[in-house]
Amino acid sequence: MVRKILEFVEKEEVKLVRLQITDINGTLKNVELPVKRLGEALTKGVMFDGSSIDGFVRIEESDMILYPDTETASLLPWKSESEKTIRLICDVMLPDGTPFEGDPRYRLRKIVEKAKKMGFEAFAGPEPEFFLIRKKSGDPKEIELLDKGGYFDMLPVDKGEEVRKSIVIALEKMGFEVETAHHEVAHSQHEVDFRYTDILRTADNIQTFKWVVKTVSVLNGLHATFMPKPFMGINGSGMHIHLSLFSKGENAFYDPHKPYELSETAIFFIGGVLKYAAEITAVTNPTINSYKRLVPGYEAPVNISWALGNRSALIRVPSVRGEATRIEIRNPDPTCNPYLALAVILAAGLKGIEENILPPKPIDRNIFELDSGEKLKRKIEHLPADLKEATAKCEKSELVRDTLGEHIFEKFIETKRLEWTRFMRSVTDWELAEYIDLF
Ligand code: GLN
Ligand code: MG
Ligand code: MG
Ligand code: MG
Repeated sequence: MVRKILEFVEKEEVKLVRLQITDINGTLKNVELPVKRLGEALTKGVMFDGSSIDGFVRIEESDMILYPDTETASLLPWKSESEKTIRLICDVMLPDGTPFEGDPRYRLRKIVEKAKKMGFEAFAGPEPEFFLIRKKSGDPKEIELLDKGGYFDMLPVDKGEEVRKSIVIALEKMGFEVETAHHEVAHSQHEVDFRYTDILRTADNIQTFKWVVKTVSVLNGLHATFMPKPFMGINGSGMHIHLSLFSKGENAFYDPHKPYELSETAIFFIGGVLKYAAEITAVTNPTINSYKRLVPGYEAPVNISWALGNRSALIRVPSVRGEATRIEIRNPDPTCNPYLALAVILAAGLKGIEENILPPKPIDRNIFELDSGEKLKRKIEHLPADLKEATAKCEKSELVRDTLGEHIFEKFIETKRLEWTRFMRSVTDWELAEYIDLF
């Protein structure tokens, strides 16, 4: 593989190499090398100062090594011939050659290994949504929506159409199999879906995707935001996750002889995700703003339930069966660190299988229309209402602690607590508008 890549960069006359990793907050980071250093990077890795990456700092020592994963090599389509660049996603190692326990990608690898030991391979596909806006200045409030379009609109209503098309073309050039791209329900909101693959590759793809969307938008004078709820009163941006398990090459969620044509494995997996939903939500929805999206009336889930067709539930089972049988988990949003979010979701589902956790009956009605008495009767609980509640639930979670590992877990909880404190100390526009005249 190393030889193949070296031959490729020579043939393509690649000039530069970008090595990428993801920090605890889900931010993609990179270091650039001239291509002549690629051979050494691929065989010996590249040393970097781990203490300067958020969530990586170790008290003992900070020397860490980036090991490029050769399967993630891809050319950056927006670079000209004279600055042709290839990127590689890396694993983070310690100088003694052992994996760094605090590398988010390693955490996902660990749970993938666990799934493998249980006889499963996990596949996932995301539905990331984002807003395309125009920034009028550096002031985050001085922004402008591009259009008042809605679901599936096109030009002249959909003013993001051309940029979205350029995003799709860039993704395809990087090896993505884009499935659909469209204007979403909210003004200036878009969605681009790409084909599912194994869960680790999907986490890599989500990181690459967000980077491509942001880069292509900036190159076109626009700004793309994955903030979950940038505007009050209209839909926010989610990142639904479609997930399935395969066993010996066959979809392990499908069983034509069982109720709903769903296997026991699928039912227990759903049971696990629902049981642990409240405690993993801080990881799948990690910002203050995430919880402004998880409110009734905007196609985002609020309650912990599952359904067959109904989109108001946390987990929906799309109607296809056979090879394509899967569940759709609807609370995650694109501010999550996809390695960590997919790791906790998979961990919760696998626990469900290990412990035979039966979910309650699927919901057949729009949950937003059920009153609280009805919800009580059906034992429907709600997702954490804000980051404080989510962090408190997460902090007590053995499942999250084991899955993220001590290092990330401690740092994550501390980061989220500080975020909440900063938020509580800030005085918002809402408070001014509400109180300045009243009192
Ligand atoms: N934007 C919605 C959400 O926040 C989803 C809308 C949709 O994809 N139907 O999850
Ligand atoms: Mg969609
Ligand atoms: Mg959508
Ligand atoms: Mg969806």
